[in-house]
Amino acid sequence: MALLQISEPGMSAAPHKHNLAVGIDLGTTNSLVATVRSGMSTVLQDEHGHALLPSVVRYLENNGVEVGHDAQAQQSTDPTNTIVSVKRFMGRGLKDIANRAHIPYRFVENTNKESNGMLQIETRVGNKSPVEISAEILKTLRTRAEKALGGELTGAVITVPAYFDEAQRQATKDAARLAGIHVLRLLNEPTAAAVAYGLDNASEGVYVIYDLGGGTFDISVLRLSKGVFEVLATNGDSALGGDDFDHRIFCWILDQIRLKVPNFSPLSEEDTRLLLTKSRQAKEWLTDNYESQITCKLSNGYFVDITLNVSQFNEFTQNLVSKTLNPTRKAIRDAGLSLDEINGVVLVGGATRMPHIRHAVADFFKQEPLTNLDPDKVVALGAAIQANVLAGNRSDKDLLLLDVTPLSLGLETMGGLVEKIIPRNATLPVARAQEFTTFKDGQTAMSFHVLQGERELVSDCRSLAKFELRGIPPMAAGAARIRVTFQIDADGLLSVSAKEQTSGLESHVVVKPSYGLSDEEIGNMLKSSFLAAENDKQARAVREAQVEAARLLESITFAMDQDADKILSPDEKEAIYSQMEALKEIMKSDDSQAINRATEKLNKSTESFAARRMDASVTKALAGQNLDSLEI
Ligand code: AMP
Repeated sequence: MALLQISEPGMSAAPHKHNLAVGIDLGTTNSLVATVRSGMSTVLQDEHGHALLPSVVRYLENNGVEVGHDAQAQQSTDPTNTIVSVKRFMGRGLKDIANRAHIPYRFVENTNKESNGMLQIETRVGNKSPVEISAEILKTLRTRAEKALGGELTGAVITVPAYFDEAQRQATKDAARLAGIHVLRLLNEPTAAAVAYGLDNASEGVYVIYDLGGGTFDISVLRLSKGVFEVLATNGDSALGGDDFDHRIFCWILDQIRLKVPNFSPLSEEDTRLLLTKSRQAKEWLTDNYESQITCKLSNGYFVDITLNVSQFNEFTQNLVSKTLNPTRKAIRDAGLSLDEINGVVLVGGATRMPHIRHAVADFFKQEPLTNLDPDKVVALGAAIQANVLAGNRSDKDLLLLDVTPLSLGLETMGGLVEKIIPRNATLPVARAQEFTTFKDGQTAMSFHVLQGERELVSDCRSLAKFELRGIPPMAAGAARIRVTFQIDADGLLSVSAKEQTSGLESHVVVKPSYGLSDEEIGNMLKSSFLAAENDKQARAVREAQVEAARLLESITFAMDQDADKILSPDEKEAIYSQMEALKEIMKSDDSQAINRATEKLNKSTESFAARRMDASVTKALAGQNLDSLEI
């Protein structure tokens, strides 16, 4: 695959001036900020020496806000005002988070028209959007960085899961803006990890980045070569992470309690949060120990005292581990690689510390994964290196970062079919254009429907946006040339424009979908596209045959209305009408070949009618003219 040259913004800045730029890993569980100092990428610590900032925000009674460890310490006692894992709700509407049984928040829909139905969380100081909550985390990191670096930041590279769709990316950018941070670029987390590994180890070859964080799983296949990073494929599950392992322990604890006390009363919000925290501690303890003692007192006075050992934990979380391997297989298949072509596997994310994850990865790839960089810091370190380049501090060779689109993007065409313009796994940034034309004579407007997904039919894809191009000069059907350009920038945001070539008339839309794709939706869309490939091919053939038939029927109906009585004998007229009726009947079937045959038959039997019409119109046009007045 050819590599694209990307000229980076800021590359021309004066090399002697050091711009303060940071990389921010805005994680589900923890967030970090890093910068390049004396050529070394380093994570910045707070005044207590903490590198990780828990991604926890607590709203206080006096309108104050606590972020990080202080907030985390209160999450059991003040669960509804202490927001954890807010990243899961970025760019989401209420309907996207169907499974909220173990989430202790009260969600409300944002009624503000601008917000496109995004959710909000009710707190004691009012309703807060995930963007506002994330902005608090970013503000804290910004303050930490400005204190450590002694000046105002020029900008930041912020990392997002590779699977984040446009809504989630936009929400992340909005949060940064709210925190007063200039975003140099959003960068996929696995790509950032590759930057850190690639430069530190000067590795070459094909690498897989296996990233299991608190709330998301991403798998990326990257090719590293002489400082150039090319993402060959990505896959993942945006609702799978360490939190799910905690939740399994939580359910196991409840089962154990109910074995002893069958009609144990439902847990309060505080107890739920407390037990989830205990579950997480037990999980982390089991990484280095054989068993974990779980003890705590619930609000009804019940005292929990249970021992969990590694083999029990491994057993009831085994299918979560397996769940990471399906997307892994798909990404490798999409990259067109076999396992023996993979030079190394990099582990990223705190949850990859779990030994059974490491074993499963080693078994799957038949090689030990690379773990020499801290899995919690590697993303922030890579983001800082990229920020340093984008801020113009590095005048040496460009660092190229190529990401890919997770799902295909296309346009609706006649018959409810989708014409793919940018295929999935196309390298970003990307721009692709295709020409479309009008369906009817004199058509002066066209409406465009932008879709995302792998299936052939509009009804099976996800609608992203609709827009119109009006004022097209009237022409015969098929004569207008409308060039539609799809452009995805380096942050993964899509804009679509349509331009009529002769008049220069233009219209465009920037896609900011009202909802992000739910985690299951992406997985299901890909799965169903593989399963339905054959059916889709047939459905496409039927729709195409129907469109062709409709086009022919429309033009013959018009011609018959105009000229049938003048040109055709009653028998000829009758024959054509009866074939038209026959075609209309066959069109209702899903037999594309039969529709094509009937269309062809009608086409053939109206050839002589069309020829006679042509003769008649030429005769009429020439009537009363002499040869000299004709321009030949
Ligand atoms: P991240 O989103 O990358 O910060 O990852 C956070 C996740 O890593 C959380 O689910 C943590 O519980 C998990 N984690 C951190 N340290 C450990 C550990 N030693 N063993 C198991 N899981 C861990």
